[in-house]
Amino acid sequence: MIIIMEPGASAEQVHDVEEEIRRIGLRPFLNPGVERKVIAVLGEVDVTKAALVGHFSMYAGVARVELISDLWKLCSRGYHPENSIVQVGDVAFGAEKIVVIAGPCSVESREQTLEIAEQVKEMGASLLRGGAFKPRSSPYSFQGLGEQGLKFLAEARERTGLPVVTEVMDTHEIVLVAEYADVLQIGARNMQNYSLLKAVGHSGRAVLLKRGMGSRVKDLLMSAEYILSEGNPDVILCERGITTFEDSTRNTTDINAIPVLKHWTHLPVVLDPSHSTGVWRYVAPVACAGVACGADGIIVEVHNDPQRAMSDGMQSLKYDNFKSLMSQVGRIAEAVGRTS
Ligand code: PEP
Ligand code: MN
Repeated sequence: MIIIMEPGASAEQVHDVEEEIRRIGLRPFLNPGVERKVIAVLGEVDVTKAALVGHFSMYAGVARVELISDLWKLCSRGYHPENSIVQVGDVAFGAEKIVVIAGPCSVESREQTLEIAEQVKEMGASLLRGGAFKPRSSPYSFQGLGEQGLKFLAEARERTGLPVVTEVMDTHEIVLVAEYADVLQIGARNMQNYSLLKAVGHSGRAVLLKRGMGSRVKDLLMSAEYILSEGNPDVILCERGITTFEDSTRNTTDINAIPVLKHWTHLPVVLDPSHSTGVWRYVAPVACAGVACGADGIIVEVHNDPQRAMSDGMQSLKYDNFKSLMSQVGRIAEAVGRTS
Protein backbone atom coordinates (compact mmCIF):
# COMPACT_ATOMS: atom_id res chain seq x y z
CA MET A 1 0.00 0.00 0.00
CA ILE A 2 1.22 3.51 -0.75
CA ILE A 3 -0.14 6.78 0.57
CA ILE A 4 0.24 9.69 -1.81
CA MET A 5 0.20 13.04 -0.05
CA GLU A 6 -1.22 16.27 -1.50
CA PRO A 7 1.48 18.39 -3.16
CA GLY A 8 1.18 20.97 -0.38
CA ALA A 9 0.94 18.54 2.56
CA SER A 10 2.73 19.85 5.64
CA ALA A 11 5.52 18.08 7.50
CA GLU A 12 3.13 17.66 10.42
CA GLN A 13 0.51 15.94 8.26
CA VAL A 14 3.16 13.56 6.92
CA HIS A 15 4.33 12.92 10.46
CA ASP A 16 0.78 12.14 11.66
CA VAL A 17 0.31 9.56 8.91
CA GLU A 18 3.69 7.96 9.68
CA GLU A 19 2.84 7.79 13.39
CA GLU A 20 -0.48 6.10 12.67
CA ILE A 21 1.25 3.53 10.43
CA ARG A 22 3.64 2.70 13.29
CA ARG A 23 0.81 2.59 15.83
CA ILE A 24 -0.93 -0.18 13.92
CA GLY A 25 2.29 -2.19 13.80
CA LEU A 26 3.41 -1.42 10.23
CA ARG A 27 6.48 0.42 8.86
CA PRO A 28 6.34 3.73 6.99
CA PHE A 29 8.95 4.48 4.30
CA LEU A 30 8.91 8.05 3.06
CA ASN A 31 9.84 9.08 -0.45
CA PRO A 32 10.36 12.83 -0.01
CA GLY A 33 9.88 13.37 -3.78
CA VAL A 34 10.16 16.79 -5.32
CA GLU A 35 6.61 16.99 -6.58
CA ARG A 36 4.77 14.96 -3.96
CA LYS A 37 5.59 12.91 -0.90
CA VAL A 38 4.72 9.22 -1.00
CA ILE A 39 4.67 6.94 2.02
CA ALA A 40 5.01 3.20 1.46
CA VAL A 41 3.36 1.09 4.15
CA LEU A 42 5.44 -2.02 4.72
CA GLY A 43 4.46 -5.12 6.63
CA GLU A 44 1.80 -7.79 6.42
CA VAL A 45 -1.50 -6.02 5.81
CA ASP A 46 -3.43 -8.98 4.38
CA VAL A 47 -7.15 -8.97 5.21
CA THR A 48 -7.12 -5.50 6.77
CA LYS A 49 -5.97 -3.92 3.49
CA ALA A 50 -9.32 -2.58 2.29
CA ALA A 51 -10.17 -1.07 5.68
CA LEU A 52 -6.74 0.58 5.84
CA VAL A 53 -7.27 2.29 2.49
CA GLY A 54 -10.44 3.95 3.85
CA HIS A 55 -8.77 4.75 7.16
CA PHE A 56 -5.76 6.56 5.69
CA SER A 57 -7.77 8.29 2.95
CA MET A 58 -9.42 10.34 5.68
CA TYR A 59 -6.19 11.78 7.04
CA ALA A 60 -5.50 15.46 6.40
CA GLY A 61 -3.02 16.03 3.59
CA VAL A 62 -3.60 12.61 1.97
CA ALA A 63 -4.41 12.80 -1.76
CA ARG A 64 -5.08 9.09 -2.26
CA VAL A 65 -4.19 5.61 -1.09
CA GLU A 66 -3.26 2.87 -3.56
CA LEU A 67 -2.77 -0.82 -3.11
CA ILE A 68 0.33 -2.19 -4.82
CA SER A 69 -0.31 -5.82 -5.55
CA ASP A 70 3.32 -6.53 -6.50
CA LEU A 71 5.54 -8.05 -3.86
CA TRP A 72 8.01 -5.21 -4.24
CA LYS A 73 7.04 -1.74 -3.12
CA LEU A 74 10.08 0.47 -2.53
CA CYS A 75 11.49 -0.53 -5.93
CA SER A 76 8.31 0.43 -7.75
CA ARG A 77 7.65 3.47 -9.88
CA GLY A 78 4.41 3.97 -7.94
CA TYR A 79 6.35 4.71 -4.76
CA HIS A 80 9.13 6.60 -6.51
CA PRO A 81 8.10 7.91 -9.95
CA GLU A 82 11.38 9.72 -10.72
CA ASN A 83 14.53 7.81 -11.72
CA SER A 84 16.78 7.20 -8.73
CA ILE A 85 20.34 8.38 -8.97
CA VAL A 86 22.87 6.23 -7.15
CA GLN A 87 25.90 8.35 -6.42
CA VAL A 88 29.29 6.65 -6.03
CA GLY A 89 31.91 9.34 -5.46
CA ASP A 90 31.67 11.60 -8.49
CA VAL A 91 29.86 8.99 -10.57
CA ALA A 92 26.07 9.09 -10.88
CA PHE A 93 24.26 5.91 -11.94
CA GLY A 94 20.87 6.66 -13.52
CA ALA A 95 21.77 10.15 -14.73
CA GLU A 96 22.34 11.27 -18.31
CA LYS A 97 25.84 9.84 -18.64
CA ILE A 98 26.27 6.15 -19.45
CA VAL A 99 28.53 4.70 -16.74
CA VAL A 100 31.17 2.19 -17.80
CA ILE A 101 32.62 -0.20 -15.22
CA ALA A 102 35.62 -2.13 -16.52
CA GLY A 103 38.37 -4.40 -15.26
CA PRO A 104 39.42 -8.02 -14.96
CA CYS A 105 37.12 -10.84 -13.91
CA SER A 106 39.54 -11.68 -11.08
CA VAL A 107 42.24 -9.70 -9.36
CA GLU A 108 45.32 -11.82 -10.12
CA SER A 109 48.30 -9.71 -9.06
CA ARG A 110 49.28 -6.17 -8.09
CA GLU A 111 50.87 -5.44 -11.49
CA GLN A 112 47.90 -6.80 -13.44
CA THR A 113 45.38 -4.79 -11.40
CA LEU A 114 47.30 -1.51 -11.57
CA GLU A 115 47.98 -1.83 -15.27
CA ILE A 116 44.40 -2.67 -16.25
CA ALA A 117 43.06 0.10 -13.99
CA GLU A 118 45.30 2.68 -15.64
CA GLN A 119 44.41 1.51 -19.14
CA VAL A 120 40.64 1.43 -18.65
CA LYS A 121 40.75 4.80 -16.92
CA GLU A 122 42.66 6.22 -19.88
CA MET A 123 40.01 4.84 -22.25
CA GLY A 124 37.14 6.41 -20.35
CA ALA A 125 35.89 3.89 -17.77
CA SER A 126 34.36 5.45 -14.64
CA LEU A 127 34.75 2.54 -12.19
CA LEU A 128 37.11 -0.41 -11.81
CA ARG A 129 35.77 -3.94 -11.41
CA GLY A 130 37.68 -7.03 -10.20
CA GLY A 131 36.84 -10.02 -8.04
CA ALA A 132 38.87 -10.86 -4.95
CA PHE A 133 36.35 -13.42 -3.65
CA LYS A 134 35.30 -15.49 -6.65
CA PRO A 135 32.15 -17.66 -6.88
CA ARG A 136 33.54 -20.45 -9.08
CA SER A 137 31.45 -23.35 -10.31
CA SER A 138 34.23 -25.79 -9.39
CA PRO A 139 35.94 -25.78 -5.99
CA TYR A 140 39.19 -26.60 -7.83
CA SER A 141 39.15 -23.38 -9.88
CA PHE A 142 40.94 -20.20 -8.76
CA GLN A 143 38.98 -18.80 -5.82
CA GLY A 144 40.47 -15.31 -5.77
CA LEU A 145 43.17 -13.57 -3.73
CA GLY A 146 40.85 -12.57 -0.87
CA GLU A 147 41.96 -9.60 1.24
CA GLN A 148 45.23 -9.26 -0.68
CA GLY A 149 43.16 -8.72 -3.83
CA LEU A 150 41.11 -6.04 -2.07
CA LYS A 151 44.34 -4.25 -1.20
CA PHE A 152 45.44 -4.25 -4.84
CA LEU A 153 42.06 -2.80 -5.85
CA ALA A 154 42.35 -0.07 -3.22
CA GLU A 155 45.82 0.81 -4.45
CA ALA A 156 44.50 0.98 -8.03
CA ARG A 157 41.78 3.35 -6.84
CA GLU A 158 44.37 5.54 -5.14
CA ARG A 159 46.39 5.78 -8.32
CA THR A 160 43.57 6.27 -10.82
CA GLY A 161 40.74 7.75 -8.76
CA LEU A 162 38.41 5.02 -10.08
CA PRO A 163 35.93 3.76 -7.46
CA VAL A 164 36.01 -0.01 -7.00
CA VAL A 165 33.25 -2.61 -7.57
CA THR A 166 33.96 -6.03 -6.10
CA GLU A 167 31.94 -9.07 -5.08
CA VAL A 168 31.01 -10.11 -1.58
CA MET A 169 29.87 -13.71 -1.22
CA ASP A 170 29.34 -14.14 2.50
CA THR A 171 27.76 -12.12 5.31
CA HIS A 172 30.93 -12.60 7.37
CA GLU A 173 33.02 -10.84 4.75
CA ILE A 174 30.87 -7.72 4.33
CA VAL A 175 32.76 -5.56 6.83
CA LEU A 176 36.09 -6.51 5.28
CA VAL A 177 35.00 -6.00 1.67
CA ALA A 178 33.19 -2.73 2.51
CA GLU A 179 36.41 -1.40 4.01
CA TYR A 180 38.05 -1.49 0.55
CA ALA A 181 35.15 -1.34 -1.93
CA ASP A 182 32.94 1.52 -3.07
CA VAL A 183 30.28 -0.78 -4.50
CA LEU A 184 29.50 -4.29 -3.23
CA GLN A 185 28.63 -6.72 -6.00
CA ILE A 186 26.12 -9.47 -5.27
CA GLY A 187 26.76 -12.14 -7.87
CA ALA A 188 24.17 -14.03 -9.89
CA ARG A 189 24.60 -17.12 -7.72
CA ASN A 190 23.78 -15.16 -4.59
CA MET A 191 20.86 -13.11 -5.87
CA GLN A 192 18.48 -15.05 -3.64
CA ASN A 193 20.74 -15.32 -0.62
CA TYR A 194 18.37 -13.38 1.57
CA SER A 195 20.60 -13.12 4.64
CA LEU A 196 23.33 -11.64 2.45
CA LEU A 197 20.84 -9.20 0.88
CA LYS A 198 19.60 -8.05 4.29
CA ALA A 199 23.14 -7.65 5.56
CA VAL A 200 24.31 -5.49 2.62
CA GLY A 201 21.28 -3.36 3.41
CA HIS A 202 23.28 -2.22 6.45
CA SER A 203 26.71 -2.06 4.81
CA GLY A 204 26.74 1.67 4.10
CA ARG A 205 27.85 0.89 0.54
CA ALA A 206 26.05 0.98 -2.79
CA VAL A 207 25.16 -2.49 -4.08
CA LEU A 208 25.38 -3.85 -7.64
CA LEU A 209 22.80 -6.64 -7.65
CA LYS A 210 23.17 -9.14 -10.48
CA ARG A 211 20.23 -11.12 -11.78
CA GLY A 212 20.39 -14.85 -11.15
CA MET A 213 20.81 -16.97 -14.29
CA GLY A 214 17.55 -18.76 -13.52
CA SER A 215 15.63 -15.86 -12.04
CA ARG A 216 12.81 -13.76 -13.41
CA VAL A 217 12.87 -9.97 -13.54
CA LYS A 218 10.28 -10.12 -10.73
CA ASP A 219 12.65 -12.16 -8.56
CA LEU A 220 15.41 -9.61 -9.14
CA LEU A 221 13.11 -6.85 -7.93
CA MET A 222 12.08 -8.79 -4.84
CA SER A 223 15.75 -9.30 -4.05
CA ALA A 224 16.39 -5.57 -4.47
CA GLU A 225 13.45 -4.94 -2.15
CA TYR A 226 15.27 -6.87 0.61
CA ILE A 227 18.15 -4.39 0.42
CA LEU A 228 15.97 -1.29 0.16
CA SER A 229 13.69 -2.32 3.01
CA GLU A 230 16.72 -2.59 5.30
CA GLY A 231 17.32 1.11 4.67
CA ASN A 232 19.88 1.07 1.83
CA PRO A 233 18.46 2.96 -1.17
CA ASP A 234 21.64 2.65 -3.27
CA VAL A 235 20.93 -0.39 -5.41
CA ILE A 236 22.03 -0.75 -9.04
CA LEU A 237 20.43 -3.65 -10.93
CA CYS A 238 22.42 -5.74 -13.39
CA GLU A 239 21.21 -7.92 -16.26
CA ARG A 240 23.95 -10.52 -16.88
CA GLY A 241 22.21 -13.06 -19.06
CA ILE A 242 20.03 -16.03 -18.25
CA THR A 243 20.27 -19.75 -18.88
CA THR A 244 18.24 -20.91 -21.88
CA PHE A 245 18.42 -23.86 -24.30
CA GLU A 246 20.60 -21.75 -26.62
CA ASP A 247 24.20 -22.86 -26.35
CA SER A 248 25.99 -20.76 -28.94
CA THR A 249 26.73 -18.28 -26.17
CA ARG A 250 27.45 -18.79 -22.46
CA ASN A 251 24.12 -17.21 -21.43
CA THR A 252 21.34 -15.46 -23.31
CA THR A 253 21.21 -11.69 -22.96
CA ASP A 254 17.67 -10.90 -21.89
CA ILE A 255 17.64 -7.56 -23.65
CA ASN A 256 13.90 -7.23 -22.91
CA ALA A 257 14.71 -7.06 -19.22
CA ILE A 258 16.18 -3.59 -19.66
CA PRO A 259 13.04 -1.77 -20.86
CA VAL A 260 10.93 -3.91 -18.50
CA LEU A 261 13.08 -2.88 -15.52
CA LYS A 262 13.13 0.77 -16.58
CA HIS A 263 9.32 0.61 -16.74
CA TRP A 264 8.76 -1.15 -13.41
CA THR A 265 11.45 0.37 -11.24
CA HIS A 266 13.20 3.69 -10.62
CA LEU A 267 16.51 1.98 -9.84
CA PRO A 268 19.43 2.32 -12.28
CA VAL A 269 20.03 -0.65 -14.58
CA VAL A 270 23.34 -1.81 -16.04
CA LEU A 271 24.09 -4.57 -18.53
CA ASP A 272 26.96 -7.06 -18.27
CA PRO A 273 27.57 -8.16 -21.88
CA SER A 274 30.68 -10.13 -20.85
CA HIS A 275 28.83 -12.74 -18.80
CA SER A 276 25.67 -12.53 -20.89
CA THR A 277 27.54 -13.62 -24.04
CA GLY A 278 30.69 -15.31 -22.71
CA VAL A 279 32.51 -14.54 -25.98
CA TRP A 280 34.70 -11.42 -26.38
CA ARG A 281 33.64 -10.87 -29.98
CA TYR A 282 29.97 -10.40 -29.04
CA VAL A 283 30.60 -8.08 -26.10
CA ALA A 284 30.69 -4.73 -27.94
CA PRO A 285 27.59 -5.29 -30.13
CA VAL A 286 25.55 -6.48 -27.14
CA ALA A 287 26.82 -3.58 -25.02
CA CYS A 288 25.54 -1.23 -27.75
CA ALA A 289 22.16 -3.00 -27.78
CA GLY A 290 21.89 -2.53 -24.01
CA VAL A 291 22.60 1.19 -24.21
CA ALA A 292 20.18 1.53 -27.13
CA CYS A 293 17.51 -0.13 -24.94
CA GLY A 294 17.92 2.28 -22.05
CA ALA A 295 20.63 0.75 -19.84
CA ASP A 296 22.27 3.33 -17.56
CA GLY A 297 25.64 1.67 -17.84
CA ILE A 298 27.63 -1.42 -18.68
CA ILE A 299 30.07 -3.61 -16.76
CA VAL A 300 32.74 -5.17 -18.95
CA GLU A 301 35.64 -7.56 -18.37
CA VAL A 302 38.98 -6.30 -19.71
CA HIS A 303 42.29 -8.14 -19.37
CA ASN A 304 45.92 -7.40 -20.26
CA ASP A 305 46.40 -11.00 -21.45
CA PRO A 306 43.02 -12.75 -21.87
CA GLN A 307 44.61 -16.06 -22.96
CA ARG A 308 46.31 -16.38 -19.60
CA ALA A 309 43.46 -14.97 -17.46
CA MET A 310 42.72 -17.03 -14.35
CA SER A 311 38.98 -16.71 -15.01
CA ASP A 312 36.72 -15.71 -17.89
CA GLY A 313 39.52 -15.12 -20.43
CA MET A 314 37.25 -16.07 -23.35
CA GLN A 315 34.95 -13.15 -22.69
CA SER A 316 37.59 -10.61 -21.66
CA LEU A 317 38.41 -7.75 -24.00
CA LYS A 318 41.93 -6.74 -24.93
CA TYR A 319 42.64 -3.02 -24.62
CA ASP A 320 42.15 -2.19 -28.29
CA ASN A 321 38.75 -3.91 -28.34
CA PHE A 322 37.73 -2.09 -25.20
CA LYS A 323 38.75 1.17 -26.80
CA SER A 324 36.63 0.43 -29.82
CA LEU A 325 33.68 -0.60 -27.57
CA MET A 326 33.94 2.77 -25.82
CA SER A 327 33.68 4.66 -29.07
CA GLN A 328 30.74 2.54 -30.33
CA VAL A 329 28.88 2.88 -27.04
CA GLY A 330 29.52 6.63 -27.12
CA ARG A 331 27.85 6.94 -30.50
CA ILE A 332 24.83 4.87 -29.42
CA ALA A 333 24.55 6.92 -26.22
CA GLU A 334 24.36 10.08 -28.25
CA ALA A 335 21.76 8.58 -30.59
CA VAL A 336 19.44 7.87 -27.63
CA GLY A 337 19.92 11.23 -25.99
CA ARG A 338 22.51 10.23 -23.41
CA THR A 339 26.14 11.18 -22.94
CA SER A 340 29.21 9.03 -22.38
C1 PEP B 1 31.67 -11.70 -12.24
O1 PEP B 1 31.22 -10.55 -12.30
O2 PEP B 1 32.85 -12.00 -12.49
C2 PEP B 1 30.72 -12.80 -11.93
C3 PEP B 1 31.11 -13.89 -11.29
O3 PEP B 1 29.46 -12.53 -12.37
P1 PEP B 1 28.08 -13.38 -12.22
O4 PEP B 1 27.77 -13.39 -10.77
O5 PEP B 1 27.13 -12.55 -13.03
O6 PEP B 1 28.32 -14.74 -12.81
MN1 MN C 1 33.75 -13.05 -14.61
